[in-house]
Amino acid sequence: MKKLHTFSLADRAEAGLLKELLEREGIACLIRNEQLFAALGEIPFLECFPELWVVDNEVWPRARLLLDSWLKSEEGGLPWNCPACGETLEGQFGACWNCGTQRNE
Ligand SMILES: [Zn+2]
Repeated sequence: MKKLHTFSLADRAEAGLLKELLEREGIACLIRNEQLFAALGEIPFLECFPELWVVDNEVWPRARLLLDSWLKSEEGGLPWNCPACGETLEGQFGACWNCGTQRNE
C-alpha cells in the first residue's frame, strides 16, 4: 500500500471524489484520517489531513498519472455528474452536452 496524495483540509471533499474516480479506473484505494475529522481539536492537527492511499503498489504510477492530470485540469474543476441525466462530464464543461442542463456552481 502506498500513499498517493495528502489533501488539505479545504480539499477534503475532493478526497472522496478522487477515490471514486480512481476506483472507476479499477484502482483500489482508500482514504485515511477522514473519520478523524469529528475529533478535530482533540488530536494533533497534522494527523487530521485526509490521505489517499493506493492499495496495490503496482498500479501506483498509473494512479499518480491520473491524479496529476486531474489536478492539472482543476482550473475547470473536477468532473461532475449531470443532475438531470446522470452523464459524467469533464470539469471544463459548463453544461451537459447530452441534455443541455447547466452546471450548478
Ligand atoms: Zn444531462
